[in-house]
This record gives sequence, C-alpha cells and structure tokens, in this order.
Amino acid sequence: MFEGFLSTMDDLNSVNMLKEEKIRYARQLSHPGFTEKNQLKLRNAKVLIAGVGGLGGAIAHGLVCAGIGRLEIIHYGVLEEPDLNRQTLMGENGVGISRALLASERLKEISSLVQIEAHDKAVTEKVLEEICDGVDLIIDARHNFPERKILNTFAVTKNIPLLFAAMNGMESQAALFVPEKTGCLNCLYPENPQDWDPFGFSVFGAVSHTIGSMAAMIAIKFLSGYGEVDETLISLNMETMKLRHFKLHKDPSCLICGCERHGLRI
Ligand SMILES: [Zn+2]
Repeated sequence: MFEGFLSTMDDLNSVNMLKEEKIRYARQLSHPGFTEKNQLKLRNAKVLIAGVGGLGGAIAHGLVCAGIGRLEIIHYGVLEEPDLNRQTLMGENGVGISRALLASERLKEISSLVQIEAHDKAVTEKVLEEICDGVDLIIDARHNFPERKILNTFAVTKNIPLLFAAMNGMESQAALFVPEKTGCLNCLYPENPQDWDPFGFSVFGAVSHTIGSMAAMIAIKFLSGYGEVDETLISLNMETMKLRHFKLHKDPSCLICGCERHGLRI
C-alpha cells in the first residue's frame, strides 16, 4: 500500500508524521500515552540486530511492524531444515538460502516504511565497525557467547546500549544494558556458559517467540521513550510459566566496562 513511500531521505528525516504513518500505526497510536512523538522517535531510530533465527526473527518482526526507522541485520549462513521449527520470517522454500537475505526480504514485504539492510556475515569487530554507524541500539540474539561477547565489548566501547536476549530449552532471558548505568553482559556472565553451547541446546519455537516479543517491546519502549524500562534481567521459565526479575549490577572489576578497564583498580 505504501510502495516507495520512503523514497528520499527527506521523508525519513521529516519532523512530522506522514499521513501514511498515521494510518499504518493508528492502532498503537491509540494506546494511552503512546504519542506521535514516541512514534517519531521510533522512526528516527537505527537498530542493529545480530541473529535472525527463532528469537531474533521475532524481535525483528516486532520492530518492523511497530515502525522502527532503520534495521541492520547480521546473520551468517543459510537456512537448514532443522531451523524450521522456530522461524517466523522464512519457510521450506528458503532452505539453502542466506538467512539474512530471507529475513530482510520478508520484512520488506511486511513494511516498505522501514529501511532494511542484510549482512550475511559472522559478527566480528571489523564488520561491526563497518555497519554500526549511527546505530542507537544493538540487539544481541546470537546463539553463541563468543559472538555475544564481541557485541558486548563493541557496545561498551562505542557507548551504545545493548539488548541481550537468549533462550535455552524452556528458559529464556532478556536484559537491556545501558552504558554507565547498568553494567554490561560481561558483568552478568563473566564466563561463557558452557551449557548454552550453540549446538547443544533444545529449542521450541514458542519459547523463542515469547522472549523475542518481550525483547522487542523492551526495544520499542526504550527507543520511543514510552513507559519505563527497568534495569533488570527478565527470566522466563516456560516449564513453570514463572517470570522473574533480577536487578542488574555493574561489576567494578568487570574487564569490559568496570573500573579495572580504565586502570582504576578499587
Ligand atoms: Zn561489565
């Protein structure tokens, strides 16, 4: 319906909501407290999402539907048959095709109001340097801790907030790390949790999608300025259906964000 609507940077940089945006986002704009100002903040935001599997796909879907302005997707590799029990953005016909490409094509079908770029690459510091210019939020939905740690170190170094989302079996977690306020992922997990090995854990799509949608809402609230985002780790166990919150603490001895990093041993 809105083919080619955001055809120029003038459109993207408009300080007012366009008619098409008011129509597209009418239902969320009808939510008490969520104003055009919030919607414009969301539209003016640029997000990098690392990982578009069952978890990251649900997050990306939530952000694109809600009207994020620009989305950079990074995910290395092609879709395989065992991935299909949890994908929201790709199906059987995509087996053997780049997951970053499949995700971006599907998201562009959903909305032409969002600028989306796909990068079929592994997460490295060099790649992040290339694609993170102007990014307001990094979303970590990778399935392995080495890449999560690269994302975290980069985010801390560049002073960019990092939204962490992860799942393992029936357990899932999400937390927003804001530089200078909350500590970082390394404060929470100084060691790499071995039982969260990418090839070892079980996955139900519904678990991925649930925590993915919760993470998407955290990102929407944070970027739009709507409501409060607590400095907590959300932990959802779908075996028991219990949701718990843990206060995030900054570790002064953290080698990534703590005082030792700055040579200020306490
Ligand atoms: Zn830290």
